[in-house]
Amino acid sequence: MILDRWQRPLGHLRISVTDRCNLRCAYCMPEPDYVWLPRTTLLTFEELTRVTRLVSALGVRHVRLTGGEPLLRAQVTDLTRQLSAIGSLDDIAMTTNGVLLAPLAPGLRDAGLRRITVSLDTLRADRFRELTRRDQLDDVLAGIEAASLAFGRIKIDTVLMRGTNDDEIEPLLAYAAQRGAEIRFIEYMDVPGATHWDAAKVVSREEILARVGRAFGPVEALPSDGPAPALRYRLASGQVFGIIASTTTPFCATCDRLRLTADGHLFFCLYATRGLDIRTPLRDGASDEELTALIRTAWQARTDRGAEARLAAPDRGAFVGVDALRKSPQLEMHTRGG
Ligand code: SAM
Ligand code: SF4
Ligand code: SF4
Repeated sequence: MILDRWQRPLGHLRISVTDRCNLRCAYCMPEPDYVWLPRTTLLTFEELTRVTRLVSALGVRHVRLTGGEPLLRAQVTDLTRQLSAIGSLDDIAMTTNGVLLAPLAPGLRDAGLRRITVSLDTLRADRFRELTRRDQLDDVLAGIEAASLAFGRIKIDTVLMRGTNDDEIEPLLAYAAQRGAEIRFIEYMDVPGATHWDAAKVVSREEILARVGRAFGPVEALPSDGPAPALRYRLASGQVFGIIASTTTPFCATCDRLRLTADGHLFFCLYATRGLDIRTPLRDGASDEELTALIRTAWQARTDRGAEARLAAPDRGAFVGVDALRKSPQLEMHTRGG
């Protein structure tokens, strides 16, 4: 186990397997165009597996495949299989927008994927089109159905934005109950990439709880399970749901997450403006020991508490401007993996 400057162990790795996405969610990719990572810079499956194996020896037990849209990376099922073969991981999970999930779900499970989270912000086709600039709600719902069959209990993540989809808290909770899924409402974050972020559009945990209480009766808070970001609650019906209150109640104090971009940069915080380039030494022939030393030293020097710092910032607006994002696409949420 290795600890950072705040005594936080390294426990989770989130791998962004591609920066490409087939949706354009308003809270993540609101701009008309993007600078993409050059394809030659993308780590191969062997390189991704090697980095994962090295960080697993430093304490990582949980790996999540994300993006961009992870299912756009060709043969991502094969990557899942290669990661499963590492052996020392407790868990391989994926966060996907669900568009391409229906036909792939059984194969992913067979390849060793243990858990799946599907992002779903609305049940209304017109709103889905407006929010994502694509017309694919039916594909996402089919993906959720197929994943529920393949994986049993899945998770659904919903980013709430005031005036956009905050009137769907109740129908989305009912939908999750009907599907046997655990839904988590996420506060809209001012991560780099959220160039249209506005504090007035954040629907806070307090507000979500008040709304749920009015619609469904008393809400019981459940004990937290480790460094997981979601606060969990139970309704009188027994339905469990979560709230990821990263904006109003950051969980930086227990954050054990490392992020790997598709082009081989390690980021120690969602809000970090600089990452550690691991691709260059990897491709220059560095040994396992040399790569491990680089990662260990960087983790041990880690002081990031980005969401807390943002909470304390006066006159909070979008964190990073469009020009900076064009110069450094690794800053984007869809590149470093949400
Ligand atoms: N494309 C996949 C998906 O949407 O599930 C995986 C990548 S996406 C970047 C991962 C998660 O980040 C999604 O659940 C998305 O809702 C969340 N996300 C992106 N931008 C966000 C923002 N500004 N605030 C809160 N969550 C955000
Ligand atoms: Fe939406 Fe995920 Fe794509 Fe971002 S990466 S635009 S959250 S589907
Ligand atoms: Fe971790 Fe950074 Fe998010 Fe805080 S803001 S929880 S340190 S990734």
